Amino acid sequence: MTCLAERLARPEIVALGDFDIPPRAVPGDTIKLDANENPFEPLGPAALAASVNRYPEPQPARLKAMLASLYGVDPDALVVTRGADDAIDMLIRAFCRPGDDAILIAPPTFTAYAHFARLQGARVVEHYLGPDFALDAQGFVAAARATPSLKLAFLCSPDNPTGGIVAADTLCAIADALPETILVVDEAYIEFSCAESVAREAVRRPNLVVLRTLSKAFGLAGARIGAAIGSRALIALAARALPPYPLSSLSIAAALDALAPERRRLHADRIARIIAERARMAERLRRASGLDRVRDGGGNFLFLEAKDPAKLRESFAAAGILARFRETAAPGGVRLTIGTRAENDAVLAALGIGDSPVGSRRADIARDTNETRIAVAIDLDAAAPRRIDTGVPFFDHMLDQVAAHGGFSLLLTCTGDLHVDAHHCIEDCAIAFGSALSKALGDRSGIGRYGFSLPMDEARAEILLDLSGRPYSLFEGSFAATHIGAYPTMMTAHVFRSFADALRATVHVRVAGEDDHHKTEACFKALGRALRQAIRREAGGVPSTKGLL
Ligand SMILES: *Cc1c(COP(=O)(O)O)cnc(C)c1O
Repeated sequence: MTCLAERLARPEIVALGDFDIPPRAVPGDTIKLDANENPFEPLGPAALAASVNRYPEPQPARLKAMLASLYGVDPDALVVTRGADDAIDMLIRAFCRPGDDAILIAPPTFTAYAHFARLQGARVVEHYLGPDFALDAQGFVAAARATPSLKLAFLCSPDNPTGGIVAADTLCAIADALPETILVVDEAYIEFSCAESVAREAVRRPNLVVLRTLSKAFGLAGARIGAAIGSRALIALAARALPPYPLSSLSIAAALDALAPERRRLHADRIARIIAERARMAERLRRASGLDRVRDGGGNFLFLEAKDPAKLRESFAAAGILARFRETAAPGGVRLTIGTRAENDAVLAALGIGDSPVGSRRADIARDTNETRIAVAIDLDAAAPRRIDTGVPFFDHMLDQVAAHGGFSLLLTCTGDLHVDAHHCIEDCAIAFGSALSKALGDRSGIGRYGFSLPMDEARAEILLDLSGRPYSLFEGSFAATHIGAYPTMMTAHVFRSFADALRATVHVRVAGEDDHHKTEACFKALGRALRQAIRREAGGVPSTKGLL
Protein backbone atom coordinates (compact mmCIF):
# COMPACT_ATOMS: atom_id res chain seq x y z
CA MET A 1 0.00 0.00 0.00
CA THR A 2 1.50 3.32 -1.03
CA CYS A 3 1.30 6.25 1.36
CA LEU A 4 -1.34 8.98 1.09
CA ALA A 5 1.10 11.52 -0.30
CA GLU A 6 2.08 9.18 -3.09
CA ARG A 7 -1.55 8.39 -3.96
CA LEU A 8 -2.49 12.07 -4.07
CA ALA A 9 0.58 13.47 -5.79
CA ARG A 10 0.64 14.20 -9.51
CA PRO A 11 1.92 11.12 -11.34
CA GLU A 12 4.69 13.24 -12.86
CA ILE A 13 5.94 14.09 -9.36
CA VAL A 14 5.83 10.44 -8.23
CA ALA A 15 7.80 9.42 -11.31
CA LEU A 16 10.35 12.18 -10.79
CA GLY A 17 13.66 11.26 -9.20
CA ASP A 18 15.57 13.49 -6.80
CA PHE A 19 18.20 15.88 -8.14
CA ASP A 20 21.63 14.33 -8.37
CA ILE A 21 23.32 16.74 -5.96
CA PRO A 22 25.59 15.69 -3.10
CA PRO A 23 23.56 16.64 -0.02
CA ARG A 24 26.29 17.98 2.25
CA ALA A 25 28.81 20.81 2.23
CA VAL A 26 32.31 19.48 1.61
CA PRO A 27 35.29 20.11 3.94
CA GLY A 28 37.02 23.45 3.36
CA ASP A 29 40.17 22.01 1.81
CA THR A 30 38.33 20.03 -0.87
CA ILE A 31 39.29 20.89 -4.44
CA LYS A 32 35.86 21.41 -5.92
CA LEU A 33 35.97 20.88 -9.64
CA ASP A 34 32.64 19.15 -10.02
CA ALA A 35 30.05 21.83 -10.60
CA ASN A 36 31.49 24.34 -13.07
CA GLU A 37 31.74 26.93 -10.31
CA ASN A 38 34.08 29.91 -10.49
CA PRO A 39 37.08 29.16 -8.24
CA PHE A 40 37.74 32.80 -7.35
CA GLU A 41 36.20 34.13 -4.18
CA PRO A 42 33.69 36.93 -4.54
CA LEU A 43 34.90 40.51 -4.24
CA GLY A 44 32.37 42.08 -1.88
CA PRO A 45 32.73 41.50 1.87
CA ALA A 46 29.13 40.39 2.44
CA ALA A 47 29.21 38.06 -0.52
CA LEU A 48 32.60 36.78 0.60
CA ALA A 49 31.18 35.50 3.84
CA ALA A 50 28.64 33.40 2.00
CA SER A 51 30.97 32.27 -0.82
CA VAL A 52 28.57 32.99 -3.64
CA ASN A 53 30.92 31.57 -6.26
CA ARG A 54 29.84 28.10 -5.07
CA TYR A 55 26.40 26.53 -5.36
CA PRO A 56 24.68 26.42 -1.98
CA GLU A 57 23.65 23.21 -0.25
CA PRO A 58 20.18 22.44 -1.64
CA GLN A 59 18.97 21.84 1.92
CA PRO A 60 21.64 23.38 4.18
CA ALA A 61 22.16 20.84 6.95
CA ARG A 62 23.04 23.32 9.71
CA LEU A 63 20.11 25.62 8.96
CA LYS A 64 17.77 22.66 8.71
CA ALA A 65 18.93 21.38 12.10
CA MET A 66 18.46 24.84 13.65
CA LEU A 67 14.96 25.22 12.21
CA ALA A 68 14.06 21.69 13.27
CA SER A 69 15.11 22.40 16.84
CA LEU A 70 13.31 25.76 16.77
CA TYR A 71 10.08 24.03 15.72
CA GLY A 72 10.57 20.91 17.87
CA VAL A 73 10.71 18.33 15.06
CA ASP A 74 13.33 16.13 13.36
CA PRO A 75 15.25 17.62 10.42
CA ASP A 76 13.77 14.91 8.18
CA ALA A 77 10.31 16.27 8.83
CA LEU A 78 11.14 19.68 7.39
CA VAL A 79 12.00 21.19 4.03
CA VAL A 80 13.47 24.69 3.88
CA THR A 81 11.79 26.88 1.28
CA ARG A 82 12.07 30.42 -0.09
CA GLY A 83 9.67 31.77 2.46
CA ALA A 84 6.36 30.12 3.32
CA ASP A 85 5.05 31.46 -0.03
CA ASP A 86 7.32 29.06 -1.83
CA ALA A 87 6.11 26.20 0.37
CA ILE A 88 2.53 26.96 -0.68
CA ASP A 89 3.54 26.92 -4.34
CA MET A 90 5.56 23.74 -3.85
CA LEU A 91 2.63 21.90 -2.25
CA ILE A 92 0.16 22.98 -4.90
CA ARG A 93 2.47 22.02 -7.74
CA ALA A 94 3.30 18.68 -6.13
CA PHE A 95 -0.30 17.68 -5.44
CA CYS A 96 -2.69 19.47 -7.79
CA ARG A 97 -3.07 18.36 -11.41
CA PRO A 98 -4.05 21.25 -13.65
CA GLY A 99 -7.71 21.11 -14.59
CA ASP A 100 -8.55 18.17 -12.30
CA ASP A 101 -7.72 18.94 -8.71
CA ALA A 102 -8.96 21.47 -6.16
CA ILE A 103 -7.92 23.29 -3.02
CA LEU A 104 -10.21 24.53 -0.24
CA ILE A 105 -9.68 27.84 1.54
CA ALA A 106 -11.52 29.77 4.28
CA PRO A 107 -11.67 33.48 3.29
CA PRO A 108 -10.99 36.13 4.29
CA THR A 109 -7.52 34.69 4.40
CA PHE A 110 -4.04 34.92 2.91
CA THR A 111 -4.39 35.49 -0.83
CA ALA A 112 -1.41 33.35 -1.91
CA TYR A 113 -3.26 30.02 -1.61
CA ALA A 114 -5.75 30.95 -4.35
CA HIS A 115 -3.05 32.70 -6.36
CA PHE A 116 -0.75 29.71 -6.62
CA ALA A 117 -3.67 27.33 -7.19
CA ARG A 118 -4.88 29.40 -10.13
CA LEU A 119 -1.35 29.53 -11.46
CA GLN A 120 -1.28 25.76 -11.42
CA GLY A 121 -4.73 25.50 -13.02
CA ALA A 122 -6.29 24.02 -9.89
CA ARG A 123 -9.82 24.88 -8.78
CA VAL A 124 -10.27 27.07 -5.72
CA VAL A 125 -13.24 26.27 -3.49
CA GLU A 126 -14.15 28.81 -0.81
CA HIS A 127 -15.79 28.18 2.56
CA TYR A 128 -16.15 31.58 4.20
CA LEU A 129 -15.42 32.15 7.88
CA GLY A 130 -18.61 32.60 9.93
CA PRO A 131 -19.84 35.51 12.04
CA ASP A 132 -17.00 37.30 13.79
CA PHE A 133 -14.60 35.51 11.45
CA ALA A 134 -14.85 32.27 13.42
CA LEU A 135 -14.19 29.03 11.58
CA ASP A 136 -17.15 26.65 11.41
CA ALA A 137 -15.05 23.48 11.59
CA GLN A 138 -17.92 21.14 10.75
CA GLY A 139 -18.95 23.26 7.79
CA PHE A 140 -15.35 23.29 6.59
CA VAL A 141 -15.12 19.49 6.79
CA ALA A 142 -18.47 19.15 4.99
CA ALA A 143 -17.31 21.52 2.23
CA ALA A 144 -14.13 19.47 1.87
CA ARG A 145 -16.08 16.22 1.61
CA ALA A 146 -18.37 17.74 -0.98
CA THR A 147 -15.47 18.85 -3.22
CA PRO A 148 -14.48 16.27 -5.81
CA SER A 149 -10.75 15.67 -6.23
CA LEU A 150 -9.82 17.91 -3.32
CA LYS A 151 -6.12 17.60 -2.63
CA LEU A 152 -5.26 20.40 -0.22
CA ALA A 153 -7.26 22.35 2.38
CA PHE A 154 -5.65 25.52 3.75
CA LEU A 155 -6.21 27.06 7.17
CA CYS A 156 -4.26 30.05 8.41
CA SER A 157 -3.86 30.37 12.18
CA PRO A 158 -3.40 33.09 13.27
CA ASP A 159 -5.27 34.19 10.17
CA ASN A 160 -4.10 36.99 7.89
CA PRO A 161 -5.87 39.47 7.84
CA THR A 162 -8.39 38.77 10.62
CA GLY A 163 -5.94 37.59 13.31
CA GLY A 164 -8.29 34.71 14.21
CA ILE A 165 -6.89 31.56 15.77
CA VAL A 166 -8.09 28.01 15.28
CA ALA A 167 -7.26 25.84 18.31
CA ALA A 168 -4.70 23.07 17.85
CA ASP A 169 -7.14 20.29 18.74
CA THR A 170 -9.68 21.62 16.24
CA LEU A 171 -7.02 21.60 13.51
CA CYS A 172 -6.07 18.00 14.36
CA ALA A 173 -9.75 16.98 14.42
CA ILE A 174 -10.25 18.52 10.97
CA ALA A 175 -7.22 16.66 9.60
CA ASP A 176 -8.44 13.41 11.12
CA ALA A 177 -11.92 13.92 9.64
CA LEU A 178 -10.41 14.28 6.14
CA PRO A 179 -8.04 11.30 5.77
CA GLU A 180 -7.88 11.65 1.96
CA THR A 181 -6.98 15.34 1.93
CA ILE A 182 -3.86 17.15 3.08
CA LEU A 183 -4.61 19.90 5.58
CA VAL A 184 -2.09 22.74 5.34
CA VAL A 185 -1.91 24.88 8.48
CA ASP A 186 -0.15 28.20 7.90
CA GLU A 187 1.51 29.30 11.15
CA ALA A 188 3.34 32.31 9.71
CA TYR A 189 2.38 34.46 12.74
CA ILE A 190 2.21 31.91 15.54
CA GLU A 191 5.15 33.42 17.44
CA PHE A 192 2.98 36.49 18.11
CA SER A 193 0.12 34.45 19.55
CA CYS A 194 -0.47 32.20 22.51
CA ALA A 195 -1.69 29.44 20.17
CA GLU A 196 -0.04 26.06 20.27
CA SER A 197 1.73 24.92 17.10
CA VAL A 198 0.58 21.70 15.43
CA ALA A 199 4.05 21.09 13.94
CA ARG A 200 4.63 17.97 16.05
CA GLU A 201 1.15 16.68 15.19
CA ALA A 202 1.92 17.14 11.52
CA VAL A 203 4.97 14.87 11.74
CA ARG A 204 2.80 12.09 13.14
CA ARG A 205 0.02 12.36 10.57
CA PRO A 206 0.08 11.47 6.89
CA ASN A 207 -2.16 14.39 5.95
CA LEU A 208 -1.13 17.44 7.95
CA VAL A 209 1.49 20.01 6.90
CA VAL A 210 2.56 23.08 8.85
CA LEU A 211 4.11 26.19 7.28
CA ARG A 212 6.52 28.38 9.23
CA THR A 213 8.62 31.38 8.26
CA LEU A 214 11.47 33.55 9.51
CA SER A 215 9.92 36.54 7.69
CA LYS A 216 7.69 37.78 10.45
CA ALA A 217 9.02 36.85 13.91
CA PHE A 218 12.70 36.90 12.96
CA GLY A 219 12.60 39.95 10.69
CA LEU A 220 14.02 38.14 7.66
CA ALA A 221 11.34 38.85 5.04
CA GLY A 222 13.99 39.90 2.54
CA ALA A 223 16.00 36.72 2.96
CA ARG A 224 13.03 34.51 1.99
CA ILE A 225 13.41 31.62 4.42
CA GLY A 226 10.47 29.44 5.41
CA ALA A 227 9.72 25.79 5.99
CA ALA A 228 7.11 23.11 5.47
CA ILE A 229 6.81 20.49 8.21
CA GLY A 230 5.08 17.12 7.94
CA SER A 231 5.59 13.38 7.75
CA ARG A 232 8.90 12.40 6.25
CA ALA A 233 7.21 10.75 3.24
CA LEU A 234 5.08 13.77 2.45
CA ILE A 235 7.93 16.25 2.83
CA ALA A 236 10.28 14.20 0.64
CA LEU A 237 7.65 14.00 -2.09
CA ALA A 238 6.62 17.63 -1.99
CA ALA A 239 10.25 18.78 -2.06
CA ARG A 240 10.59 17.32 -5.55
CA ALA A 241 8.65 20.29 -6.83
CA LEU A 242 11.46 22.65 -5.72
CA PRO A 243 14.25 23.75 -8.05
CA PRO A 244 17.67 22.16 -7.50
CA TYR A 245 19.22 24.99 -5.47
CA PRO A 246 16.24 26.87 -4.07
CA LEU A 247 18.01 28.93 -1.39
CA SER A 248 20.58 31.66 -1.95
CA SER A 249 23.84 31.42 0.02
CA LEU A 250 23.32 34.97 1.29
CA SER A 251 19.91 34.06 2.65
CA ILE A 252 21.25 30.93 4.29
CA ALA A 253 23.97 33.02 5.95
CA ALA A 254 21.40 35.60 7.09
CA ALA A 255 19.20 32.88 8.57
CA LEU A 256 22.07 31.17 10.39
CA ASP A 257 22.99 34.54 11.78
CA ALA A 258 19.49 35.35 12.96
CA LEU A 259 19.10 31.97 14.62
CA ALA A 260 22.48 32.12 16.41
CA PRO A 261 21.95 31.25 20.08
CA GLU A 262 23.22 34.58 21.38
CA ARG A 263 20.59 36.45 19.31
CA ARG A 264 17.57 34.43 20.44
CA ARG A 265 16.93 36.52 23.52
CA LEU A 266 16.83 39.72 21.43
CA HIS A 267 14.33 38.18 19.02
CA ALA A 268 12.18 37.07 21.95
CA ASP A 269 12.42 40.58 23.39
CA ARG A 270 11.39 42.14 20.06
CA ILE A 271 8.42 39.79 19.76
CA ALA A 272 7.38 40.65 23.32
CA ARG A 273 7.60 44.36 22.44
CA ILE A 274 5.43 43.89 19.37
CA ILE A 275 2.84 41.97 21.40
CA ALA A 276 2.84 44.72 24.05
CA GLU A 277 2.49 47.40 21.37
CA ARG A 278 -0.34 45.43 19.75
CA ALA A 279 -2.22 45.53 23.07
CA ARG A 280 -1.48 49.23 23.57
CA MET A 281 -2.56 50.12 20.03
CA ALA A 282 -5.74 48.04 20.25
CA GLU A 283 -6.69 49.70 23.50
CA ARG A 284 -6.02 53.20 22.14
CA LEU A 285 -7.65 52.61 18.75
CA ARG A 286 -10.83 51.28 20.37
CA ARG A 287 -11.32 54.83 21.60
CA ALA A 288 -10.95 56.32 18.10
CA SER A 289 -14.25 57.66 16.84
CA GLY A 290 -13.60 56.73 13.18
CA LEU A 291 -13.33 52.99 13.81
CA ASP A 292 -16.22 50.56 14.26
CA ARG A 293 -14.14 47.61 15.27
CA VAL A 294 -10.56 46.83 16.28
CA ARG A 295 -9.45 43.20 16.29
CA ASP A 296 -6.20 42.26 17.97
CA GLY A 297 -5.73 38.62 17.11
CA GLY A 298 -2.58 36.59 17.17
CA GLY A 299 -0.55 38.37 14.49
CA ASN A 300 1.86 41.32 14.37
CA PHE A 301 -1.04 43.39 13.06
CA LEU A 302 -4.52 44.66 13.91
CA PHE A 303 -7.60 44.34 11.74
CA LEU A 304 -9.67 47.51 11.79
CA GLU A 305 -13.09 48.31 10.42
CA ALA A 306 -13.16 51.99 9.47
CA LYS A 307 -16.41 53.95 9.30
CA ASP A 308 -15.03 56.00 6.42
CA PRO A 309 -12.11 54.14 4.84
CA ALA A 310 -11.55 56.88 2.23
CA LYS A 311 -11.06 59.42 4.99
CA LEU A 312 -8.75 57.07 6.89
CA ARG A 313 -6.77 56.50 3.73
CA GLU A 314 -6.35 60.26 3.39
CA SER A 315 -5.24 60.77 7.00
CA PHE A 316 -2.72 57.97 6.66
CA ALA A 317 -1.46 59.26 3.32
CA ALA A 318 -1.02 62.76 4.73
CA ALA A 319 1.12 61.33 7.54
CA GLY A 320 3.08 59.08 5.20
CA ILE A 321 1.63 55.91 6.72
CA LEU A 322 0.98 52.82 4.62
CA ALA A 323 -1.64 50.30 5.70
CA ARG A 324 -3.32 47.49 3.81
CA PHE A 325 -6.91 48.32 2.90
CA ARG A 326 -8.79 45.02 2.66
CA GLU A 327 -12.37 45.95 1.93
CA THR A 328 -13.11 42.58 0.40
CA ALA A 329 -12.37 41.03 3.80
CA ALA A 330 -14.80 43.31 5.67
CA PRO A 331 -16.51 46.65 4.95
CA GLY A 332 -13.94 49.31 5.83
CA GLY A 333 -11.38 46.58 6.53
CA VAL A 334 -7.81 47.73 7.15
CA ARG A 335 -4.88 45.57 8.16
CA LEU A 336 -2.46 47.65 10.19
CA THR A 337 0.95 46.21 11.00
CA ILE A 338 2.42 46.91 14.43
CA GLY A 339 5.56 49.00 14.02
CA THR A 340 8.05 50.52 16.42
CA ARG A 341 6.68 52.58 19.25
CA ALA A 342 7.45 55.76 17.33
CA GLU A 343 5.71 54.47 14.19
CA ASN A 344 2.69 53.42 16.21
CA ASP A 345 2.59 56.83 17.87
CA ALA A 346 2.53 58.36 14.39
CA VAL A 347 -0.58 56.30 13.61
CA LEU A 348 -2.29 57.52 16.78
CA ALA A 349 -1.30 61.09 15.95
CA ALA A 350 -2.71 60.73 12.42
CA LEU A 351 -6.02 59.69 13.98
CA GLY A 352 -5.93 62.64 16.35
CA ILE A 353 -5.57 60.49 19.49
CA GLY A 354 -1.82 60.73 20.01
CA ASP A 355 0.00 61.79 23.18
CA SER A 356 2.89 64.13 22.85
CA PRO A 357 5.42 61.52 21.84
CA VAL A 358 8.28 60.81 24.21
CA GLY A 359 11.04 59.48 21.94
CA SER A 360 12.06 56.01 22.98
CA ARG A 361 15.64 55.55 24.10
CA ARG A 362 16.39 51.99 23.18
CA ALA A 363 18.91 50.26 20.98
CA ASP A 364 19.80 46.76 20.03
CA ILE A 365 23.03 45.81 18.36
CA ALA A 366 24.90 42.69 17.35
CA ARG A 367 28.69 42.67 17.38
CA ASP A 368 30.43 39.65 15.86
CA THR A 369 34.16 39.06 15.54
CA ASN A 370 36.22 35.91 15.13
CA GLU A 371 36.59 35.85 18.91
CA THR A 372 33.15 36.74 20.20
CA ARG A 373 29.52 37.04 19.09
CA ILE A 374 27.49 39.46 21.16
CA ALA A 375 23.93 40.73 21.07
CA VAL A 376 22.81 43.60 23.32
CA ALA A 377 19.48 45.36 23.83
CA ILE A 378 19.08 48.39 26.08
CA ASP A 379 16.03 50.40 27.03
CA LEU A 380 16.92 53.42 29.11
CA ASP A 381 13.32 54.13 30.06
CA ALA A 382 12.39 50.66 31.34
CA ALA A 383 13.89 48.98 34.41
CA ALA A 384 13.20 45.45 33.15
CA PRO A 385 14.04 42.97 31.76
CA ARG A 386 17.67 42.43 32.78
CA ARG A 387 19.33 39.23 31.61
CA ILE A 388 23.07 39.03 31.16
CA ASP A 389 25.06 36.09 29.95
CA THR A 390 28.66 36.99 29.12
CA GLY A 391 29.99 33.48 29.81
CA VAL A 392 31.84 34.81 32.89
CA PRO A 393 29.45 34.57 35.85
CA PHE A 394 31.15 37.20 37.99
CA PHE A 395 31.10 39.67 35.09
CA ASP A 396 27.39 38.90 34.55
CA HIS A 397 26.84 39.88 38.15
CA MET A 398 28.83 43.12 37.65
CA LEU A 399 26.94 44.18 34.52
CA ASP A 400 23.69 43.33 36.24
CA GLN A 401 24.72 45.73 39.02
CA VAL A 402 25.33 48.46 36.46
CA ALA A 403 21.89 48.02 34.89
CA ALA A 404 20.06 47.55 38.20
CA HIS A 405 21.65 50.63 39.78
CA GLY A 406 21.44 52.50 36.48
CA GLY A 407 17.69 51.80 36.41
CA PHE A 408 17.60 50.53 32.82
CA SER A 409 16.80 47.33 30.97
CA LEU A 410 19.76 45.33 29.66
CA LEU A 411 19.80 42.09 27.68
CA LEU A 412 23.27 40.91 26.79
CA THR A 413 24.30 37.53 25.45
CA CYS A 414 27.83 36.60 24.42
CA THR A 415 29.39 33.44 23.08
CA GLY A 416 33.13 33.53 22.65
CA ASP A 417 36.51 31.94 23.01
CA LEU A 418 36.35 31.24 26.74
CA HIS A 419 38.55 28.22 26.09
CA VAL A 420 41.36 30.74 25.49
CA ASP A 421 40.48 32.86 28.52
CA ALA A 422 37.91 35.39 29.65
CA HIS A 423 39.70 38.41 28.18
CA HIS A 424 37.95 38.72 24.80
CA CYS A 425 34.49 38.09 26.15
CA ILE A 426 34.85 40.65 28.93
CA GLU A 427 36.47 43.30 26.75
CA ASP A 428 34.08 42.86 23.83
CA CYS A 429 31.03 42.87 26.10
CA ALA A 430 32.23 46.18 27.55
CA ILE A 431 32.59 47.59 24.02
CA ALA A 432 29.20 46.30 22.87
CA PHE A 433 27.53 47.56 26.04
CA GLY A 434 29.06 51.02 25.61
CA SER A 435 28.11 51.14 21.92
CA ALA A 436 24.51 50.13 22.63
CA LEU A 437 24.25 52.68 25.42
CA SER A 438 25.63 55.37 23.13
CA LYS A 439 23.14 54.43 20.42
CA ALA A 440 20.23 54.45 22.88
CA LEU A 441 21.22 57.95 24.04
CA GLY A 442 20.83 59.20 20.47
CA ASP A 443 21.85 62.85 20.24
CA ARG A 444 22.09 62.94 24.07
CA SER A 445 19.60 65.77 24.30
CA GLY A 446 17.71 66.25 27.54
CA ILE A 447 20.06 64.20 29.73
CA GLY A 448 21.72 65.00 33.09
CA ARG A 449 25.20 64.15 31.87
CA TYR A 450 27.35 63.92 35.04
CA GLY A 451 28.81 61.34 38.31
CA PHE A 452 28.74 59.27 41.74
CA SER A 453 30.63 57.69 44.63
CA LEU A 454 29.71 54.84 46.88
CA PRO A 455 30.96 52.86 49.88
CA MET A 456 30.69 49.09 50.18
CA ASP A 457 31.71 47.91 53.65
CA GLU A 458 35.42 48.75 53.92
CA ALA A 459 35.69 49.54 50.18
CA ARG A 460 34.87 52.80 48.45
CA ALA A 461 34.53 53.55 44.78
CA GLU A 462 34.21 56.89 43.12
CA ILE A 463 33.06 57.25 39.53
CA LEU A 464 33.18 60.57 37.79
CA LEU A 465 31.32 60.34 34.56
CA ASP A 466 30.67 62.77 31.76
CA LEU A 467 28.65 61.69 28.72
CA SER A 468 30.68 64.23 26.84
CA GLY A 469 30.93 62.62 23.42
CA ARG A 470 34.70 62.41 24.01
CA PRO A 471 36.23 59.12 25.16
CA TYR A 472 38.67 59.34 28.08
CA SER A 473 39.32 56.95 30.92
CA LEU A 474 41.34 57.07 34.10
CA PHE A 475 41.56 54.20 36.61
CA GLU A 476 43.19 54.54 40.03
CA GLY A 477 43.27 51.45 42.21
CA SER A 478 44.76 47.96 42.30
CA PHE A 479 43.73 44.45 43.29
CA ALA A 480 45.61 41.88 45.40
CA ALA A 481 44.07 38.74 43.86
CA THR A 482 44.53 37.83 40.18
CA HIS A 483 41.01 36.41 39.81
CA ILE A 484 37.51 36.51 41.23
CA GLY A 485 36.08 33.22 39.94
CA ALA A 486 36.89 33.10 36.22
CA TYR A 487 37.11 36.89 36.16
CA PRO A 488 40.64 38.37 36.05
CA THR A 489 40.76 41.44 38.34
CA MET A 490 43.10 43.23 35.92
CA MET A 491 40.16 43.35 33.46
CA THR A 492 38.28 45.95 35.51
CA ALA A 493 40.43 48.87 34.39
CA HIS A 494 40.29 47.48 30.88
CA VAL A 495 36.49 47.20 30.94
CA PHE A 496 36.13 50.82 32.00
CA ARG A 497 38.46 51.94 29.20
CA SER A 498 36.65 49.92 26.52
CA PHE A 499 33.31 51.09 27.85
CA ALA A 500 34.38 54.76 27.88
CA ASP A 501 35.69 54.46 24.32
CA ALA A 502 32.54 52.86 22.98
CA LEU A 503 30.21 55.18 24.89
CA ARG A 504 32.29 58.25 24.01
CA ALA A 505 32.37 59.31 27.65
CA THR A 506 34.89 60.51 30.19
CA VAL A 507 35.09 57.98 33.02
CA HIS A 508 37.34 58.48 36.06
CA VAL A 509 37.42 55.60 38.54
CA ARG A 510 39.08 55.63 41.95
CA VAL A 511 38.77 52.56 44.14
CA ALA A 512 40.26 51.65 47.53
CA GLY A 513 39.64 48.99 50.19
CA GLU A 514 40.70 45.50 51.20
CA ASP A 515 38.39 42.91 49.69
CA ASP A 516 38.78 42.64 45.90
CA HIS A 517 35.23 41.40 45.44
CA HIS A 518 33.85 44.40 47.35
CA LYS A 519 36.12 46.82 45.51
CA THR A 520 35.16 45.47 42.10
CA GLU A 521 31.49 45.37 42.90
CA ALA A 522 31.62 48.88 44.31
CA CYS A 523 33.11 50.11 40.99
CA PHE A 524 30.29 48.60 38.94
CA LYS A 525 27.55 49.68 41.33
CA ALA A 526 28.93 53.20 41.33
CA LEU A 527 28.99 53.10 37.53
CA GLY A 528 25.31 52.14 37.56
CA ARG A 529 24.47 54.99 39.95
CA ALA A 530 26.53 57.44 37.92
CA LEU A 531 24.76 56.36 34.76
CA ARG A 532 21.36 56.65 36.44
CA GLN A 533 22.04 60.33 37.07
CA ALA A 534 23.71 61.00 33.76
CA ILE A 535 21.05 59.42 31.54
CA ARG A 536 18.11 60.91 33.46
CA ARG A 537 15.83 62.94 31.27
CA GLU A 538 15.72 66.56 32.24
CA ALA A 539 14.02 69.48 30.61
CA GLY A 540 15.89 71.24 27.88
CA GLY A 541 18.03 70.27 24.94
CA VAL A 542 21.58 69.09 24.64
CA PRO A 543 23.32 69.80 28.00
CA SER A 544 26.27 71.62 26.50
CA THR A 545 26.86 75.22 25.56
CA LYS A 546 28.22 73.83 22.30
CA GLY A 547 24.75 72.43 21.54
CA LEU A 548 26.36 69.14 20.61
CA LEU A 549 27.65 66.10 22.53
C1 LIG B 1 3.53 36.69 5.15
C2 LIG B 1 2.78 35.41 5.07
C3 LIG B 1 3.34 34.26 4.50
C4 LIG B 1 4.56 34.28 3.68
O1 LIG B 1 5.69 34.44 4.34
P1 LIG B 1 7.07 34.29 3.58
O2 LIG B 1 7.77 33.28 4.41
O3 LIG B 1 7.69 35.63 3.63
O4 LIG B 1 6.86 33.81 2.20
C5 LIG B 1 2.66 33.07 4.57
N1 LIG B 1 1.46 33.01 5.14
C6 LIG B 1 0.87 34.09 5.66
C7 LIG B 1 -0.46 33.97 6.27
C8 LIG B 1 1.49 35.33 5.61
O5 LIG B 1 0.87 36.42 6.05
